[in-house]
Amino acid sequence: MSGTTGDIVLSARDVTKDFGHTQVLKGVSLDVHAGEVMCIIGPSGSGKSTFLRCINHLEDIDGGSLTVFGDLVGYKRKGDRLYEESERETAVKRERIGMVFQQFNLFPHLTVLENVMIGPVEVKGTPKAQARETALTLLERVGLRDRADAYPVQLSGGQQQRVAIARTLAMQPDLILFDEPTSALDPEMVSEVLSVIRDLADDGMTMVIVTHEMGFAREVADTVVFMADGNIVESGTPDEVMGHPREERTKQFIQEIR
Ligand code: ADP
Ligand code: MG
Repeated sequence: MSGTTGDIVLSARDVTKDFGHTQVLKGVSLDVHAGEVMCIIGPSGSGKSTFLRCINHLEDIDGGSLTVFGDLVGYKRKGDRLYEESERETAVKRERIGMVFQQFNLFPHLTVLENVMIGPVEVKGTPKAQARETALTLLERVGLRDRADAYPVQLSGGQQQRVAIARTLAMQPDLILFDEPTSALDPEMVSEVLSVIRDLADDGMTMVIVTHEMGFAREVADTVVFMADGNIVESGTPDEVMGHPREERTKQFIQEIR
């Protein structure tokens, strides 16, 4: 595992986020390094999804700073001055970040193959033949090459989520965010999806994974972050946070979820 020694990919400093009068992120600070797998755990309503959305430019932050690939999110640098970036510039930056959601969000009217091809073709202008080759290779990688011509509705939830991961990989992201990728699945389909994510970890993909799968987090994470009520309560190695939690709040959560 390349762990926590690579270059910094993502750096959050005292990030706050308000929805109306409610502060849902209350000063979140963390670093993610190239090749690191970070699992974020914590009760529902802690701000985990909101934090991922901020990283992916889907929400503006209200305080602190968020740096992804060396650039402040939402800003560009010219000399030593910062400028707010245009939507187009934000979109280009976002191409480096993949996101996989609890609901797979595949296009229902497109085949599996077309779902995986559409990003590179529409967004990056990749020639169709090339996008098709890549898509087939990625489908092979997630074990679904033989379903390339099926429609999402013909697949199980686990298969759909694996297509969603292939679709994300097709954009060649440098960072992938997963928001509870197995929470919507029937129990018997969880492991096939976790196994695909585990392979990505073994390949050195940088990932931030929000998950309730404690065994999985313990196995693949370089770093586990426990969030509650908009704060990071504690973070460390899986053994530190899950095996020997220091904070009462963490102990409680780990016991409850077991
Ligand atoms: P988690 O993913 O840890 O369950 P969320 O980030 O989804 O937590 O939510 C954190 C808090 O922010 C919750 O109280 C939620 O109701 C609130 N929240 C999330 N999104 C919005 C929104 N768009 N508008 C208002 N409140 C929101
Ligand atoms: Mg969530």
